[in-house]
Amino acid sequence: LLNMKSVKKSFDGVEILKDISLEVGEGEILSIIGPSGSGKSTLLRCATLLEDMDDGELSYNGNTVCKSVEGKSVYESSAALKKISECFGLVFQNFNLFPHMNVLQNICDAPIRVQKRDRTSVKEEAFELLKKMGLFDKAEAYPYQLSGGQSQRVAIARALALNPKILFFDEPTSALDPELTGEVLRVIKSLSDLNIAMVIVTHEMAFAREISDKVIFMSGGVIVEAGTPDVVFASDNEKTKNFIGALN
Ligand code: ATP
Ligand code: MG
Repeated sequence: LLNMKSVKKSFDGVEILKDISLEVGEGEILSIIGPSGSGKSTLLRCATLLEDMDDGELSYNGNTVCKSVEGKSVYESSAALKKISECFGLVFQNFNLFPHMNVLQNICDAPIRVQKRDRTSVKEEAFELLKKMGLFDKAEAYPYQLSGGQSQRVAIARALALNPKILFFDEPTSALDPELTGEVLRVIKSLSDLNIAMVIVTHEMAFAREISDKVIFMSGGVIVEAGTPDVVFASDNEKTKNFIGALN
């Protein structure tokens, strides 16, 4: 479904992603762990076209988004990118809800305005999603009236309303108090039976271990280790061991 090959990215002459390759299959759950500054967010931003990469290749479903030509990434036309970008969604650390729209409008805006879908069926689906998120009674609420956990669940519903094949999460619970973290992690876990692939950057080690098909440990812009949770969490690699040990 997602394929990244030898991705490189520098900021101000400093190489932040050094040579990143990864694959995510349909319905697969990949967690990315690693210290602050290791390039996790940059990787998600490159994968979701918020950031151009310098070199390397990216494709979704076998459709090339960009490929490497003579050590430079060359992107597809914007029309092609628009089509491809319909297959992924992104959930941020700080929810990024539209403050002037209520919950229902936040969820329905892009499907109606961007995807040009029928208003009635979009709304019906939105209520289904809200039910799934335990937020049925919050449809008319505005973001400032929601707790952090509720806001994040709305953000997840909003991403799901676009029917993505793959959802990216960048530290979805790190802005939340511990008691609100659990409710968001439970919701993310409940998505695993929708057959949507997920790429989750998280510091919640127990969660990553439980939910993931694969775990990647990043440090200093490289993938130090990748494998099943059992393998990565029992790693002998010094860097991996130190990082996981420090969080336990
Ligand atoms: P954290 O766990 O703290 O979120 P991260 O692994 O997500 O860290 P990134 O946000 O990808 O790390 O940042 C990696 C490095 O790239 C950092 O040193 C950061 O300062 C730098 N960086 C990221 N974005 C930019 C930018 N737009 N301009 C300049 N430097 C940047
Ligand atoms: Mg980050």
